[in-house]
Amino acid sequence: MRETLDFLLYDWLHAADLTARERFADHSRETFGAVLDTCERMAREKFAPYYRLMDSEEPRFDGERVHLPAATLEAVNALVDSGMLAAAKDYDVGGMQLPCLIETAANAFISKANVAAGSYAVLTSCNANLLMEHGSERQREVFAKTLFAGRWFGTMCLSEPQAGSSLSDVATRAELEEENDPLGPRYRLRGNKMWISGGEHELRENIVHLVLAKIPGPDGKLIPGTRGISLFIVPKRMVGADGRLTGERNDIALAGLNHKLGHRGTTNCLLNFGEGKFQPEGKPGAVGYLVGKPGEGLRCMFFMMNEMRIGVGLGATMLGYAGYEASLEYARQRPQGRAMTATGKDAASPQRPIIEHADVRRMLLAQKSYVEGALAFELYCARLVDELHTGDNKAEAQALLDVLIPIAKSWPSEWCLEANSLAIQVLGGYGYTRDFPVEQHWRDNRLNMIHEGTHGIQALDLLGRKVVQQGGASLAALAARVQATIERAMQTEWAPLANQLAAALAQVGGATKKAWRTGEPEEALANATPYMQAFGHTVLAWTWLDVVLAVQGDSDFAQGKRAAARYFFAYELPKIAAWLDVVARREPLCREMRPEYF
Ligand SMILES: Cc1cc2nc3c(=O)[nH]c(=O)nc-3n(C[C@H](O)[C@H](O)[C@H](O)COP(=O)(O)OP(=O)(O)OC[C@H]3O[C@@H](n4cnc5c(N)ncnc54)[C@H](O)[C@@H]3O)c2cc1C
Repeated sequence: MRETLDFLLYDWLHAADLTARERFADHSRETFGAVLDTCERMAREKFAPYYRLMDSEEPRFDGERVHLPAATLEAVNALVDSGMLAAAKDYDVGGMQLPCLIETAANAFISKANVAAGSYAVLTSCNANLLMEHGSERQREVFAKTLFAGRWFGTMCLSEPQAGSSLSDVATRAELEEENDPLGPRYRLRGNKMWISGGEHELRENIVHLVLAKIPGPDGKLIPGTRGISLFIVPKRMVGADGRLTGERNDIALAGLNHKLGHRGTTNCLLNFGEGKFQPEGKPGAVGYLVGKPGEGLRCMFFMMNEMRIGVGLGATMLGYAGYEASLEYARQRPQGRAMTATGKDAASPQRPIIEHADVRRMLLAQKSYVEGALAFELYCARLVDELHTGDNKAEAQALLDVLIPIAKSWPSEWCLEANSLAIQVLGGYGYTRDFPVEQHWRDNRLNMIHEGTHGIQALDLLGRKVVQQGGASLAALAARVQATIERAMQTEWAPLANQLAAALAQVGGATKKAWRTGEPEEALANATPYMQAFGHTVLAWTWLDVVLAVQGDSDFAQGKRAAARYFFAYELPKIAAWLDVVARREPLCREMRPEYF
């Protein structure tokens, strides 16, 4: 993987050029390489060896405490000590001012080795980043900096048992207690938060929950819709204005742990806020400090959306990558079956390794095209985040990210999961056992189509908002980039693939218009998921064509990249015709099917 990563970073995305920018002036290809080396080593030594252990010894709650394997603490300590929690942040908050591109590439090693153990750090960085942007001076000092230093860990508490995709139905209440607390307007919160990753553990002395809740109006009722949602810092242990722990517990109780299909190394909790189990300052109610202004909770929460969704997509990609590598190694060694010749099979000859069978190569090539394509695409998106923050054309970067982020999150979640399924298939019966890691890769990856906006919700966002916003400006920005790649490829041996991509782009554009022809959202959006699949495949075909134009020479490495690109165009891109067909004719079947017909 390292060779592919270095090729994508330096030969394709020209990462070294970023060092010409003022923000990254202290960096060089050598410093980037040192960060990648550190993360690669840490992943190999502190994360990978415990991948299975953290799955089989899943978190346990004894009614008082949550128990985790000791290896979890060792892994998170190594990550904290590496400084990666604040890798892309300013020097003055303890960061390294690395480009998002390099931070993303470095995190790829952790995601591949043990995604569940890495989640505590990802959540903590996201939490701290959000507070740096929207918190008060004191909140940044007391909470964000302590999180970046890794002394405390963080969570994101959005979901509730009755409010998952529909966050407007959040019912946690926040009642004002003291407007002028030095840590921010102080409220008492009551409600239940479901599915909270990292919501309880003793890996650190404190956990800083970022909680969405509603402040009641003058009539005591909660304001319906997302407008009424505000954001609060709710620490597990109470914190003084000077940032020291007061010794009191906040009123947050762990109601129970969720027992998950995969991702078991990360605790996942139902948390009760304000039920009176603990009584901070002698009263029930979880103490929370308002972040930003009332009613701006969702806007603040989604500030980190680009990076978080790239993070989910990268995690899905790397699980796919891990399965690909495991199944490739197996296929090289497993003898089974003989060559089929015109005169039949020679039973006396030795069996051949299964990698010799075309169908096994098909499964390996599919995986290679999914996971290497997805890695390239996630890095491309991370590079766009750098363009947004430090580049010359921020408006273009924003337009591109708007339309690409649903793909960055959803495409690897679906197709690198498919890669995991193919990895199991390559191992045959052995793949279906716990003696090999590929079943765990699949289970761990299955989460990614569910959290951080489900697959269906991403599709609605793409077709319902992103491709039509500002008269289709984001789609036009993307089309221009795809067109530029097509034009370059037209001058090369890749012209046939360029023509195929041009046709796909036209098909996507045409289907987008036809989906919206009646202007009825119900009609357009009934087939949003097949639309997103076609859109994603077109984006990945573009990625592969662009990548392959940067491939030089005739090494095995270069030939492998070319074969994967060809595979994607031959076996995958043609699928978009079926997906777009139902979109373009606004197929009404799913919309009109009545619940009683099932
Ligand atoms: C392991 C794990 C970790 C998580 N970590 C966190 C966390 O740290 N913090 C946090 O706040 N949340 C977390 N979540 C919650 C996660 O974000 C939600 O599960 C997700 O948003 C979906 O909500 P739901 O489970 O209530 O499903 P629902 O919203 O009930 O959705 C069920 C199905 O209906 C579909 N659906 C729903 N509404 C629509 C619609 N309008 N149109 C079309 N289809 C629709 C969905 O796509 C889905 O397929 C986590 C979840 C899991 C499983």
